[in-house]
Amino acid sequence: MKRSIKAITVQELTDELIRAGYKHYSARQVCHWLYKSRTLRSFDEMTNLPKEARWYLAEHYFIDSLAVENVQESIDGTKKILYRLRDGEFIESVLMPDNKKRDVFTLCVSTQVGCPMKCTFCLTAQMGYIRNLTPPEIIDQVLISRREFLTENQCLRNLVFMGMGEPLLNTQAVVTALRFLTSPQYCAFSPRRVTVSTVGIPPGIKKLGESGVGVNLALSLNATTNELRSQLMPINKKYPIESLIDACREFPLPRRRRITFEYVMLKDVNDTEEDARRLARLLRPIRAKVNLIVYNPVPHLPYEPSPQEHIERFRQILVTKNYTVAVRYSKGKDIKAACGQLAGNYLLAQSH
Ligand code: SF4
Repeated sequence: MKRSIKAITVQELTDELIRAGYKHYSARQVCHWLYKSRTLRSFDEMTNLPKEARWYLAEHYFIDSLAVENVQESIDGTKKILYRLRDGEFIESVLMPDNKKRDVFTLCVSTQVGCPMKCTFCLTAQMGYIRNLTPPEIIDQVLISRREFLTENQCLRNLVFMGMGEPLLNTQAVVTALRFLTSPQYCAFSPRRVTVSTVGIPPGIKKLGESGVGVNLALSLNATTNELRSQLMPINKKYPIESLIDACREFPLPRRRRITFEYVMLKDVNDTEEDARRLARLLRPIRAKVNLIVYNPVPHLPYEPSPQEHIERFRQILVTKNYTVAVRYSKGKDIKAACGQLAGNYLLAQSH
């Protein structure tokens, strides 16, 4: 049976090609085509490889782990891409243009089909969990989104692991994908431009730190008491706030970098002045910055976005305590591509 050619190191591919009787430098050429070319679709296009080597590869491997099933484009330029996996499952990635530099993009990457985390404000949670993605399926979201939806003059600069799924419940595959995405030999993204966002799984945070990949960590906090957080995010019963703060304190942060704490602002749920003060106290032991996320209402879920004045008051309190705070408006709301709105073909299936 054929397997993916992605996420195989130059060394592994060299060994295999030598065993098969091809020159050792072919593996470097293959990897160059796979990760640096922005147009490659077939082994036939690897024109500097001997024909027999190309046939050998085509016989044993496939290039794409995902196929584009559908694309929706928002009025703000955001594209929500529905990918079909080779086993028929679906995932989504979201490609967002920068607010100022319109030719610079960020890709929101998925790490699981569905999600087991059951956060009560999130649509993806309603899909349930289907399976983990493999390293090639994670890497291909990046390579195929760039190949199919960006021109040569457009640059995919940032990757955020905030799509469907909890990355640190699939840590091994995520770390393998990150090594390929950030290594200069393969995709060469700067680790400073890559962020893994988690609900807070301390063993996963530890493994990510120990892996040495050097990417940014974001933690989706959303509440300042265990009681409320357990209501919003049931995983908190297993890993309460104190255990997350400890895990973040031990995360190896490169100099001048900070951990981002994400806080979805829910009207009259977590947006009081007391919440803001508690948040400032909680984060004191950590080099932290805060993203306040304007909530995108999801049909049938009981939450509303905080009014602008609540958000501003909350922000001010944190700023006076010396935190850097950004207020984030999700992109692609009109195509349901915003935070917490990714649901693969779940909604499609429900409407049939
Ligand atoms: S918010 Fe993230 S972790 Fe929580 S259910 Fe949604 S996708 Fe999963």
